[in-house]
Amino acid sequence: MSAVFLNIAYIAAAVLFIFGIKMLGSASTARKGNMISAIGMLLAVVVTLMKSGMDFQWVWIGLGLGTVIGVVWARVVKMTGMPELVALFNGFGGLASVFVAWAEYQKYFSEGGIGGIENATFIAVVIAVATWIGALTFSGSLIAWAKLSGKLGGSATILPKQRLIALVLLILSVGSVAFFGWAPDSPVAYGVFLGVLVAGIGLGIFGVLPIGGGDMPVVISLLNSLSGLAASAAGFAIQNNVLIVAGCLVGCSGLILTLIMCKAMNRNLANVLFSGFGSAGGAADTEVEGEMKAATTSDAYYVLEAAQTVVIIPGYGMAVAQAQHAVKELGDLLEENGAEVFYAIHPVAGRMPGHMNVLLAEADVPYEQLVEMDAINPRMPSVDVAIVIGANDVVNPAASEDQSSPIYGMPIIKANEARTVYALKRGKGAGFSGLVNKLYFLEKTRMLYGDAKETVTALVSEFKK
Ligand code: NDP
Repeated sequence: MSAVFLNIAYIAAAVLFIFGIKMLGSASTARKGNMISAIGMLLAVVVTLMKSGMDFQWVWIGLGLGTVIGVVWARVVKMTGMPELVALFNGFGGLASVFVAWAEYQKYFSEGGIGGIENATFIAVVIAVATWIGALTFSGSLIAWAKLSGKLGGSATILPKQRLIALVLLILSVGSVAFFGWAPDSPVAYGVFLGVLVAGIGLGIFGVLPIGGGDMPVVISLLNSLSGLAASAAGFAIQNNVLIVAGCLVGCSGLILTLIMCKAMNRNLANVLFSGFGSAGGAADTEVEGEMKAATTSDAYYVLEAAQTVVIIPGYGMAVAQAQHAVKELGDLLEENGAEVFYAIHPVAGRMPGHMNVLLAEADVPYEQLVEMDAINPRMPSVDVAIVIGANDVVNPAASEDQSSPIYGMPIIKANEARTVYALKRGKGAGFSGLVNKLYFLEKTRMLYGDAKETVTALVSEFKK
């Protein structure tokens, strides 16, 4: 196949990626956007396979295995398991870049070295950079996956001499990449290359372990961005234009999402990566005055029945309980009863960006009823009832009132300003950050204990009596 045709096909694929990503910006076009990007990727894969000199035996094995694992996994994964799946995807993206760069180096190595080729230093540096970022992304993503799936505690784990080790690994990495670029054919070059790989793996582990669960959304999108950068570097190493473009798109969009998430949590990236936020102890043990007062669903029904404005604030617990369909039914009954109903969406409610939007869209809640945090907050003082469904950190007033709280400054949905609050959760458990929530202790708050789906279904039954 001619190089001209190949590059035209690659440009077409890149255009499809860009339009696809643009369409992901709105819930109504997101599905189509996903499909368009996937068609772009299919085009890129097909024309790459049409290049001459391919060894198809391994390609078919890889394609077959990848397709089967991908299809089965995507079908069986529960909505609550999505963030873990995304973490693993990022990790394997990074690992793929390591293999691409390593294979390229191995090719040069067995053919007599990199030194003789055009742009030798550049090629050696991008091979080392792709390997380093890919390895870091892989190990960091595995730690993020283990934290999110509960296999490692969600809180920050500070190891002895943690910062010193990370600093040494960073210096070693930079030094090894520089040496490899300067002398890619020296007798010790292969060892240095393996050193880059090991230092990358170590940095991923030491970089993500000390980050607490509350900051995981930022880490996941940063790792996503890094997997794109690794792919892009691998694209430079094998001089493949579409890999460079696709990698840059993932890298940039991941970085933009990272910054949006940081803003939603009122933290800057350096603070997220180096503060050890969410480590065990600290403010999690804060004593709060007062007590949590339980109510029954029939008590709640009488208040809800008289309410003019109701704001439903969903959080991670709604996702765990898979209560979204019952919640939609409750919302409809409240509206039939004459109340104005809104769903207040916090940007980091749940365990991944857009988690609540996805669940509520699945339950056919009209998009117009979903109100972003900044739009709903000024209206909260005039809201009769706020129903907090399995949300905790995102409605914790300590974020705006308690300067000693680790989440001080994080924007929250101001459920505490509504006239009455009903909080649905199973027990007295803390939120993802491990902090006590003063909202539950307020005079105006009543707890509806139990699984969110069962409690909401009981409220629905009260309305239907
Ligand atoms: P939280 O994790 O703070 O709180 C969830 C609450 O749901 C818990 O207090 C829990 O209490 C309750 N719950 C759990 N299961 C059920 C159930 N079956 N029925 C009823 N309640 C239940 O969730 P939020 O959504 O408020 O906050 C999200 C947090 O997660 C933030 O700290 C955010 O930074 C972080 N995060 C967000 C990500 C994102 O991208 N959106 C990704 C990773 C983390 P109990 O045990 O008592 O039932």
